[in-house]
Amino acid sequence: MTVSRFGAMLVFGLVCLFCRRAGADTVTFKDGRIMEGKVVSQDDENITLKTQFGTQKIARRDVAKVEKGETALDEYQKRRDALKSDDLEGHLKLALWCKENKLTGQAKDLYRMVLVLEPNQPIANKELGNIQYNGTWYSPADLDKVKESENKAKGLVKYKGQWMPKEDVDKLEKGMKKVGDRWMTPDEEMQSKGYTKVDGKWVKAEDKERLEVEKKLEKALGVKPIVIFSAHFTVASMLSGEHTKQMSDRAEEIYRFFGVFFEGKPDHQFWMGRAQLYVLNNRNNYEDFVNFVLPEMLHDEDTRKFFLKSGAFQVTGPNISGTSIEEDKFQLNGVDHVVAHFLLAQYCGGRVPPWLYEGYASWMETKFDDASRVHCTTKTSYGDRSEIADKASSSKSWPELIRDSIETKTDTPLESMMNISLNQLDYEHLSKSWSIVSMLVENSKDAFISFIRKLRTGDQEHAFKEGLGMAPAEVDGKWHEWAMKQK
Ligand SMILES: [Zn+2]
Repeated sequence: MTVSRFGAMLVFGLVCLFCRRAGADTVTFKDGRIMEGKVVSQDDENITLKTQFGTQKIARRDVAKVEKGETALDEYQKRRDALKSDDLEGHLKLALWCKENKLTGQAKDLYRMVLVLEPNQPIANKELGNIQYNGTWYSPADLDKVKESENKAKGLVKYKGQWMPKEDVDKLEKGMKKVGDRWMTPDEEMQSKGYTKVDGKWVKAEDKERLEVEKKLEKALGVKPIVIFSAHFTVASMLSGEHTKQMSDRAEEIYRFFGVFFEGKPDHQFWMGRAQLYVLNNRNNYEDFVNFVLPEMLHDEDTRKFFLKSGAFQVTGPNISGTSIEEDKFQLNGVDHVVAHFLLAQYCGGRVPPWLYEGYASWMETKFDDASRVHCTTKTSYGDRSEIADKASSSKSWPELIRDSIETKTDTPLESMMNISLNQLDYEHLSKSWSIVSMLVENSKDAFISFIRKLRTGDQEHAFKEGLGMAPAEVDGKWHEWAMKQK
């Protein structure tokens, strides 16, 4: 350890002998050795030399000569004296040397000299902090003066550090703001961003609409609903936020599906504005809704009385539906079913026969859920077959019931089903309608689309012939074969 440290010091000492620093004092010994450092003091006997290894006292009798080193300032003076007054390059070079040797003031003096020789010399200007403006170099203070006189000539005034026309200052002082190239009052600015004032508070136009729906329902039912607006639907519900969101998402999902299926694009516009789905959570709320909220949307009192009896309603055209689901019996079938109705009715211009209307909505439920459970018919009595009707309330048992009816030749011919009104459709008609729609949608999609479109301008006979290219009896025949193979 000691040896190696000693070795390192030796090497260091040797190296230092060779790297004589500019400006250091040199002491030359009589034996030829040289030491560098700063002579701190000297008298007749001793010289005190401060080196980078420490301060040493050296006996004068050992010393041959002491040379005082030249300082940077000394060298500057020498170089400066040698410089010709018109030597621009020389001044620049010396100025750079001064910067490197930390003679800042001297460097600046030299740059000022350069500008006397050549006022637009860029390096000297930059070094002195000048700024170029319209091809001329100015000190910051001079530039401010130049700009001030220019702005004054243009009739501008300075306001909070910015130059602007006098009339703009007046507007700013009134609290106005420039948006793009238009001056707006604070109110106009909020309105331009889509806000509206409600009870003294700014709210988004959509939020205003939503607040109105909330308020109206809360006032009528005494319960605050959850209201979700989406692109094509308003879902106002008394259920949890999570369930309400699921219903809103499902409604949009069905909308997109229908758009792609019939028009090849998810955002096809089937209606303007938003369809409204009101989901109440019990019978009382449903009745309050029909009695106190619905009248402003639906004026016909008889229809409203009918809705009170039926427990759920839908009005196609304005596309309003109301239903009641208890939170613990939550399911999305109602959304699948009612949105399918709205879309199909809209697409056919309201000319959908009941069997197809129900069959298609049931198919949509089985497409998006595991079974069809929502049936719009009010037919609740099936005579001695009521037990089967009960069993048939979910589409899960329909394939079996259908095969049964085909084997026993008790199924209703399609030709007769075509003329049955909504409230006369029983489970057998519903299941057959669902099954026929399933067959057509899944096996002959293009013909089915064409059939639906033909309903806009003609009756069912016409649509079967022109759209599907088959008479109802032929469809029935095909269906018998197909349905027997379904599980
Ligand atoms: Zn229905």
